[in-house]
Amino acid sequence: MSKPKTTWWANASPDNIHNHQDALLKRFLQTRAVPFTQFYSKLFSENGIDPRDIRSTDDLVKLPFTSKADFDNPRDFVIIPDEVVVKKQWRTILRALTTGSAATKAALEKELRPILLTSTTGRSSAPVPFLYTAHDIARLEEGGRRMMQLCQSDASNKHVNAFPFAPHLAFWQAHYAGTGHNTFMLSTGGGKTIGTEGNVRIIDKINPEAIIAMPTFLYHLLQEGTVGGSRWKNLKRLVLGGEKVPAGMRRKLKELCAEMGAPDVAIISTYGFTEAKMAFTECLPVAGDQPSGFHIYPDMCFIEIIDPESGQRLPENTPGEIVLTQLDARGTIVLRYRTGDLIENGLTHAPCPHCGRTCPRLLGKISRVSDFKNLHIDKLKGTLVDFNALENVLDDTEGLGAWQIELRKRNDDPLESDIVLVHAVTMKGDEETLRHAIHRRFESSTEFAPNEIQFHTWEEMRTLQGVGKELKEKKVIDHRPS
Ligand SMILES: [Zn+2]
Repeated sequence: MSKPKTTWWANASPDNIHNHQDALLKRFLQTRAVPFTQFYSKLFSENGIDPRDIRSTDDLVKLPFTSKADFDNPRDFVIIPDEVVVKKQWRTILRALTTGSAATKAALEKELRPILLTSTTGRSSAPVPFLYTAHDIARLEEGGRRMMQLCQSDASNKHVNAFPFAPHLAFWQAHYAGTGHNTFMLSTGGGKTIGTEGNVRIIDKINPEAIIAMPTFLYHLLQEGTVGGSRWKNLKRLVLGGEKVPAGMRRKLKELCAEMGAPDVAIISTYGFTEAKMAFTECLPVAGDQPSGFHIYPDMCFIEIIDPESGQRLPENTPGEIVLTQLDARGTIVLRYRTGDLIENGLTHAPCPHCGRTCPRLLGKISRVSDFKNLHIDKLKGTLVDFNALENVLDDTEGLGAWQIELRKRNDDPLESDIVLVHAVTMKGDEETLRHAIHRRFESSTEFAPNEIQFHTWEEMRTLQGVGKELKEKKVIDHRPS
């Protein structure tokens, strides 16, 4: 076990990264992942793979993928040392366990004892707990510190973490980014704990340089602040959890900040998921330029892009599905984990055009296979609709504060045609104007109109989007009986 190197990740050459990742992977597989997790020790033996056969990240293609469906027993993915194996492997640890060298025993406990849990959510599957040891929390802090550096946040700045308080990665990553960067971070718990008003009041008092939050909630927060005459003049960064931040949403957020006396706010999106046990961010873009992708820490995980159909590994700069292998985690671990997330322009090792860092970067928009839904509407029989694109259209609609698309079957009859409902919150209260605007936007981009538009309060929308329960705001929900 060693501490992550602090600057190596940002300026190593592609060859150097490859060699270092090979070394990390070999050590991780041979000393922790395979001998001490039920799932991977079984997977390796059942497939006739000796961990020593995997000498490089190139050899990982021999290993079957792991996916959500494999998590029947989450405990099987936790590194739990087996004393028999330990006896064979490490003399020093054996000595600690048998003769009780207090210092070594304490170090081992620190490395391996789970002390924090975050969880996945999901309607279709049971939540999967992911355990963190002190070793993992050090990684969360280091990863968070790097996020702060990538966003060029000064440690003397004040930050507000407005993610919902929940056992979710987003909240804890933001919290530990604060401790890792040794900076002031107030975690408000989001709207559910002290309400939007409470958040506005606290931000009024603190006058932070950065707010970290879910996009729809942040939008609501800024809007409420604007209406109440708040002046958040110090704001320099809005950091959004949820990697999909359409241009329309970025523009609306910037406009609101300008109204509050903060015209130079950079909007930064992040990408993280429970199984990665960390999150990645874009770096601060050069004024007016396009974001330069999510910067990955090559000393913590290995990311490969695969063809979602064939499972073949794809070359650089090729769109495909993101697959993650941890290189130095403890607690719950995954190898070759299929995220189901599609990256538009693949992965690159080319230096970042904004910051010059040479760490791998994920380029372009991230979408999910499930973003493409087959619709049977009267006009469109069995048409594949890209809801990812539709999100852009809605986020760009003037006067629309928040929204959710719901798919249903007419009369809830599985044999009937599909109906599309739009749930909406108005910005300024004129429902009829907004109804027309939504219809127009739909028709110009999708050739069909929603069957119904229902208006809600912000509070109701938060419940619909599952804020605090889900990891991401649910923007498209499919209630068609399967
Ligand atoms: Zn960069």
